[in-house]
Amino acid sequence: MSSIQSDNSSTHRSGPVVIPRALHAVSRRAISPAALKVLYRLKDAGYQAFLVGGAVRDLLLGRTPKDFDVVTNAHPEQVRDLFRSCRLIGRRFHLAHVRVGPEIIEVATFRAAHTVVDEDNSVDEDSRRVTDNHGRILRDNLYGTIDEDIWRRDFTANALYYNIADYSIWDYANGVTDAEERVLKLIGDPETRYREDPVRMLRAVRFAAKLDFKIDTATAVPINKLAHMIDSVPAARLFDEVNKLFLSGSGLQSFMLLREYGLLAHLFNDLENILSSDETSQRLVEQGLSNTDERVRADKSVTPAFLFAVLLWPAVRKQSMLHARSQENGQLDFGAIQDAFDNVCSRVVRRVAVPKRFSLTSREVLALQSRFDYRSGRRSLRVLDHPRFRAAYDFLLLRAAVGEVDQEVADWWTEIQTMSPEARIEKVETPGGLNLPAARKKRRRSPRRLSSSP
Ligand code: ATP
Ligand code: MG
Repeated sequence: MSSIQSDNSSTHRSGPVVIPRALHAVSRRAISPAALKVLYRLKDAGYQAFLVGGAVRDLLLGRTPKDFDVVTNAHPEQVRDLFRSCRLIGRRFHLAHVRVGPEIIEVATFRAAHTVVDEDNSVDEDSRRVTDNHGRILRDNLYGTIDEDIWRRDFTANALYYNIADYSIWDYANGVTDAEERVLKLIGDPETRYREDPVRMLRAVRFAAKLDFKIDTATAVPINKLAHMIDSVPAARLFDEVNKLFLSGSGLQSFMLLREYGLLAHLFNDLENILSSDETSQRLVEQGLSNTDERVRADKSVTPAFLFAVLLWPAVRKQSMLHARSQENGQLDFGAIQDAFDNVCSRVVRRVAVPKRFSLTSREVLALQSRFDYRSGRRSLRVLDHPRFRAAYDFLLLRAAVGEVDQEVADWWTEIQTMSPEARIEKVETPGGLNLPAARKKRRRSPRRLSSSP
C-alpha cells in the first residue's frame, strides 16, 4: 500500500486517504454476517480483504445495500481453497461466488487497469489490456494490487474500500466527500471512461436517479455526444441494465434522465420518436413507471413483462391502428396488435434483448386490450378466464388513468369482476346495457343520416 497522501483528487494516481473507524459511519452491524464471514476468513488466511463498491457507498449514506461485494489480493483459486461452497464464474473476469447459507458473496481479485503506477509514481502504459479501436475494453483479466484496482471502478463514490483488518475506509478518489455531497463523478477522464465502457453512461443515470445524486458537470457533458456508443453494447447486457434502470424503484426518474441525456433513443428508438409528439403516450409511460416504483417500494413483485408492455405500447398502438381492420372501425384489433407487436419488438430486441418468456407475455397483455371494447354477449366474458387477464386489466387501468380509454370502460371491468357468474351473464345479455364503442358510434351517426336524407 502507498503512503497516505493529502492530494486524493480523482485525476491523480496516488495512494489512498485512510479514514479510521472513529471518523466514518460504516458499522459492522450493518454488514451482512455472510459478508463478514468471508472477509474475516480471507484476512485470517493472510490476505487483504475489503468490502467495496455500492455496499460501502450505501452504508455511508445510511442506505441498506443491495448486495455485498468483496475484493481481495487472493487469486480466485486461492479463494476457492478457503471456502467449502465456492464457484468460479465469468469469462471476461474470473470471480468467486461464495455461498454462505442463502447468501452469495461475490469475491473479486484486485485487477490492474490500463495504466500502472510504478513505485516512483510514473505511469506505464499496460499493453496487456485489449481495447477495440473505439477505446472499448474487450479483455481485461489482469490481477493487480488495490492501488491499480481503483482505476477500473467507475464513480468516485463507488470506489471506496472498507478494510476488514482495522475497519478503516480507503478512499483514493475523494469518494467520501463526493458521496456526502451527493455528486457522481467518474474517476479519470470522463470521455475516455465512457469510451472504454459506454454502459457507464447508463450507470451514471441509474445512480443519479437511485441515489438522488447530481451528475458532476464534467461527467455529464460528454454523454450527449457519446450516447450513440450505446449502439455497440451487446443487447443482452442492455437488457440487464434496462431492468436495473426501470425496476429498482427509481424508474420514473431514470426515464427522465435517459431522455434528458439523449440515451433513450439508443435503447427504445420508436418510443423516443413518439413521445415528443404524443402527450398521452408520455403520460402512460410515466404513470406506468411510477406505479412500478411504488410496487418496488411496497416490496411487491414487478416483472419485465409488464415493463416492456408499457415501453412498447405507444409504438404498438400507433402501428396497430394503421392496420386495415382498425382503420375500418377505429377500434383496437387483436390480430393487428399482435402483428404490430411483432414488428416493434423485432426492432427493440436488436438493441435490448428482451427474452421471449417476457415478450410473449407483454404481447398477450397488449393484444387483450382489444377485448375490453367488447362488453356485450357471453363471449365478451371469456377474457376474464384468460391467464393474463389480471395483468391486462392492470394495463387497462393505466390506459384509463391517462385518458387513453374512458374511465367508464375500466369501471365496467372492475365491477364485473365483483359479480357472480349469473349476474355477469345477465349484465352482458341485457340490451341497453351495452356500451360498445362501435354501437355507440352507430347510434350517434344514424340520426344525422336520417336528417340529411331527403
Ligand atoms: P448496486 O447498488 O446497484 O449494486 P453497485 O455500485 O454495487 O450498485 P455493481 O454493478 O454491483 O454496482 O458493481 C459493483 C462495483 O463494481 C461498482 O461500485 C463499481 O465500483 C464497479 N463497477 C461495476 N460496473 C462497472 C463498470 N461498468 N465500470 C466501472 N466500474 C464498474
Ligand atoms: Mg452491487
